[in-house]
Amino acid sequence: MSEEQKQCVECKKEFVINEGDREMLNLLKVPSPTLCPECRMIRRLLFRNERTWYRRKCDATGEQMLAMFSPETPLKVYKNEYWKSDAWDPLEYGREYDFSRPFFEQFGELFKSIPHPNLIQKNLVNSEYTNYSLNSKIAISA
Ligand SMILES: [Zn+2]
Repeated sequence: MSEEQKQCVECKKEFVINEGDREMLNLLKVPSPTLCPECRMIRRLLFRNERTWYRRKCDATGEQMLAMFSPETPLKVYKNEYWKSDAWDPLEYGREYDFSRPFFEQFGELFKSIPHPNLIQKNLVNSEYTNYSLNSKIAISA
């Protein structure tokens, strides 16, 4: 067993790259991480925002809405119902993959150009103030 001791470039904590990690890195043909597992998890989770909402206008209809994206973000954000509708064509945002350029560079460009739903919701009844929710129903008694 060969283990490699590394120091996280972000938090400066020591972490280990073990034999299993090394096999996976070789299989994926990716370089050894420079961030510790915790800092990598934080970086991955920064991508999601489930609990902080903002008031902003739908970029398609102009309607006021709650969204998980701030009004200052350069992303295009549509109200969920509009985003799921046929009023716009997602195929307009399709593009050819350029094998000569890095994947994440192209993914970032695509991510910044496509419309995003204000909140992730499906099949809700009286549960509009939720995010990443599915099949929720709050019964309201009279
Ligand atoms: Zn770290």
